Amino acid sequence: MTIEETTEAPAAAGSGAAVPGSATTTSRAFDVERTLAALTLEEKASLLSGLDFWTTQPVGRDDVAVPGVMVTDGPHGLRKQAESPDHLGLGTSVPATCFPPAATLGSTWDPALLRRVGEALGRETRVNDVAVLLGPGINIKRSPLNGRNFEYLSEDPVVSGELGAALVDGIQSQGVGTSLKHFAANNQEADRMRVSADVDERTLREIYLPGFERVVKRAQPWTVMCSYNKINDVYASQNHWLLTEVLRDEWGFEGLVVSDWGAVRDRVAAVAAGLDLEMPASGGRTDAEVVAAVRAGTLDEAVVDVAARRVLHLVARSLPALDAAAASGEDFDVESHHALAREAAAAGTVLLKNDAVLDELDQQGTPLLPLASAEGVAVVGELARTPRYQGAGSSQVNPTRLDDALSALRTATGAEVPFAAGYTVDGADAGSGTDADALRDEAVEVARAAGTVLVFLGLPASYESEGFDRAHMDLPAEQVAVLEAVAAVNPRVVVVLANGSAVSVASWQRLAPAVVEGWLGGQAGGSAVADVLLGTVNPAGRLAETIPLRLEDNPSYGNFPGELGHVRYGEGLLVGYRWYDARQADVAYPFGHGLSYTTFAYDGVAAEVLRPASGADDDADAAVVRVTVTVTNTGERQGAEVVQVYVGDPESQVQRPERELKAFAKVDLEPGASREVTLDLVGRDLAYWHPVLRRWVVEGGEFVVSVGSSSRDLRGAATVVVEGEDVRLPLEPLSTVAEAMAHPVVGPRVQALVHGGAVADDMLGMIGDMPLTVVADFGMGGFDRDGLTALLAEANG
Ligand code: BGC
Repeated sequence: MTIEETTEAPAAAGSGAAVPGSATTTSRAFDVERTLAALTLEEKASLLSGLDFWTTQPVGRDDVAVPGVMVTDGPHGLRKQAESPDHLGLGTSVPATCFPPAATLGSTWDPALLRRVGEALGRETRVNDVAVLLGPGINIKRSPLNGRNFEYLSEDPVVSGELGAALVDGIQSQGVGTSLKHFAANNQEADRMRVSADVDERTLREIYLPGFERVVKRAQPWTVMCSYNKINDVYASQNHWLLTEVLRDEWGFEGLVVSDWGAVRDRVAAVAAGLDLEMPASGGRTDAEVVAAVRAGTLDEAVVDVAARRVLHLVARSLPALDAAAASGEDFDVESHHALAREAAAAGTVLLKNDAVLDELDQQGTPLLPLASAEGVAVVGELARTPRYQGAGSSQVNPTRLDDALSALRTATGAEVPFAAGYTVDGADAGSGTDADALRDEAVEVARAAGTVLVFLGLPASYESEGFDRAHMDLPAEQVAVLEAVAAVNPRVVVVLANGSAVSVASWQRLAPAVVEGWLGGQAGGSAVADVLLGTVNPAGRLAETIPLRLEDNPSYGNFPGELGHVRYGEGLLVGYRWYDARQADVAYPFGHGLSYTTFAYDGVAAEVLRPASGADDDADAAVVRVTVTVTNTGERQGAEVVQVYVGDPESQVQRPERELKAFAKVDLEPGASREVTLDLVGRDLAYWHPVLRRWVVEGGEFVVSVGSSSRDLRGAATVVVEGEDVRLPLEPLSTVAEAMAHPVVGPRVQALVHGGAVADDMLGMIGDMPLTVVADFGMGGFDRDGLTALLAEANG
């Protein structure tokens, strides 16, 4: 059954808003600079906080007319609340297309598709008279337990950044803005409004910030939303380093920084740090604080001007599209957006496993998927009938329609498809007289009579949500019990999962020859899963997060979610697959994994060095290494492969992950067709953040470029020698003897001095780590303090 709701004409909202459909609206355009010059300090301060939950403050008097504009969640659909505003997704909102949440979109590895999803989101935003859609969220999935992982794209910054940029581009192509969130290091829900994420700078730069950086540089989101948490003890909302030095000065962000809802602790410090707009309304309290600080001389009015200008600019840039939409009365096409949501959900579905199953007729064995027909197929699991299709909290969309997999299978095949609920979800009433045993028995009977049984399992809404984290990675025990009971009577089991973040599969997956990870599919997820099961769509989703064997294997284990107000990112750079690879640890399914109904061959992996590399270089036009590979569809069906390029630096002065994803491309191929794929790497793709020099550096030498179908299914590699930079640290009095001996200018002399001096050879190992100044004082190196000063001057040029 497909539940359908009619979409009412969208209601108007926000002060000064126009009703789509009324053709009477005139332009509300205003000149930013002239307006700013005309505003009083009080008026400028008032622009820096919301009017209410969702609207910016208007300014209106004879010669000034700045309308308020509406901003709303986001990210995977519009949550425009007509009344009873809240940031937890409790109150109702206008019907809007519920596209698949980010966990699913991330698994598509398809920027072109995400751009189209973005365009549709932008269109719905515009026709609803909303200036900014509050998304996408691109925080890194540090732990599978993060209750909000479903709102994030990946454990890897290249996937998050590429896909995030595509979404932003698509949304903003419609004349409305986005809010890239939550900036930064917001990787858990526990204590999210206070906790300090204690992360070293190199890890921030290499893991937690580059996704944001990529989106900012590529797509210039209109706004960036700061997170609630602190970073190394400083609230993101009042973190000058983050909001001004990194975001604006280094990355060139041109838009506005908005607070997460209620993230501002000290408004004056926040303005000074670069937080332009506080949301939601403070009832005028913080506006008065800003005015008082200027009057007291503790906040420069010029800083207020800068923030007010950004708010005016945000309002002004949104008006043309909103006014035009209102004037034309345009609406969005519910059907085509639903179809796009279905396409995206299918594209993000990951075929984890599809083993051949032997039977009397077919001794070779045939995989269970795609289903040859619906003949003999039965469905078990309440989630097939009552889909879990999005996560709870501020991102919760009121869908225009809702597809469930059971109805979709029945409709697509015309078959009756026997069904048993098997279990209840979130304590729902299973019907009078039914209990867990009865439900399970019924499922067993349905399975026994079936040729193949599709078992739908997943996380109930109460397990994962904004606002809290999961306590474990397991499916509900009663669901696993149903699977065990079903598999005992029928080994031809396909498990279909619905969950917003990785669940443990290790204890039960041997019971199912085929496992499909459907994530949270959005409003069309039910039909999308049916498309994949039936083979109407050949699965091409790839894991954007590792599925570990056990929670205890995860790198954040023991450091998640922290204690006493601090969470220590003790695993440093080794997040996700970087950790499992460093440990050579087995995983259930590796990052990048996903099967297809066809097969692909990789030939001729080659890498060519084009020029010397610099860490400062992240300009896509200045490729340093060109990677080529020929991919062939060797099966009998059309299908898409995600070609993944990983880079490793086997010899370095610093720790480097074994290999890191640096580029990928999704390639669609007809059966038998081949394509040469070219992927370029820039200097930044080879670089690391030097914690002492505090800049990106490329250490010259060998790099290993691996190309494959997942992080653990590498099909070829090439070693290149790249000319890098001089990453030597200056010699200082506290530099060690070993460092001085390795120095290209003074090294030979230090060696001669030490060898020729009072130090016996067998003592060298002991003094290698001794600071030069100590050696000088002890007279061990043949130089005194004056000699050391001269030596350092010579070394440092
Ligand atoms: C969430 C944001 C959301 C905001 C407004 C906050 O609680 O963290 O992602 O955009 O509320 O609803």
